[in-house]
Amino acid sequence: MKLPKYAAAATAAVVLTSIAGVTAVSAAQGDNSHKAAPSSDASALPSVNMEALVKAAQIDPRRPDNKLTPGAKASVLLVEKALADRKLLDKKWVDGYFGTTTTAAYTKFQKSLGYKGISANGLPGKSSLAKLGAGRFTVNHVIVPGPKVKFGTKYYVNTRTQKMLLQAQKLLHRKLVLDQGSYNPGGDPTSVGTHDGGGVVDINVKGMNAATRTKVAKAMRQVGFAAWVRNPNQGDWPWHIHATAINDTDLSVQAQHQIGDYYLGQNGLANRGKDDGPKVTIRTWEEYLRVR
Ligand SMILES: [Zn+2]
Repeated sequence: MKLPKYAAAATAAVVLTSIAGVTAVSAAQGDNSHKAAPSSDASALPSVNMEALVKAAQIDPRRPDNKLTPGAKASVLLVEKALADRKLLDKKWVDGYFGTTTTAAYTKFQKSLGYKGISANGLPGKSSLAKLGAGRFTVNHVIVPGPKVKFGTKYYVNTRTQKMLLQAQKLLHRKLVLDQGSYNPGGDPTSVGTHDGGGVVDINVKGMNAATRTKVAKAMRQVGFAAWVRNPNQGDWPWHIHATAINDTDLSVQAQHQIGDYYLGQNGLANRGKDDGPKVTIRTWEEYLRVR
């Protein structure tokens, strides 16, 4: 019974606006429904916060419980509803939790668009999200990994990762040399696919002592990487710093899992041990740019 009352009040406000001039207009401005444009206009659609959505898509599949990623629920629900309406996700999973079932549904959606390889990684990217949201939702806080560029003489990263590395260099007052870059499928076999997509680099630590290695890992974390100093006891590799850019929408599935594990206080290795890196407030690159 509340609805008709509301409707009547709204109608009355419109009538007042048209007949009573200034006073009535200011009353109407306090009412969001009057400010909203007609439903055909994009401004009337709800919006998905892409940064929050992508964060949930990395963390939720790794959660041992049903906790939701803070700030992501409304955005995840909009995406899940759209996937369900396309019959890619069962309605019972429209719950604000971007777990493995939602990831699988999103991968199916990307494949339905003809996307292959890293473009069908289950992580919402700018263009797939725009297509999913057509007529349903708009997207704000858009993340763009950018085109591939060389970092140093040998290895490729995207421009988002490049900017992050340049900022880490600035904080450290030293040049960083890569041992491995991104978009490197079949590269180093000990990396089990983490470097197949975007956002992932290995930093060469030759000549750095333990304190310097930790300092570098810390600076990498500060600008938005999940970064760890890796030692030869952990795998078939020399000392290096492995770093994965949080919220890079080109991340391989393995790299996405490392980000989720990082948020959950783990080391990003297969044993899912405790995080052994320098403690910082976890921030994405975009969050870092807003607070620095
Ligand atoms: Zn690596």
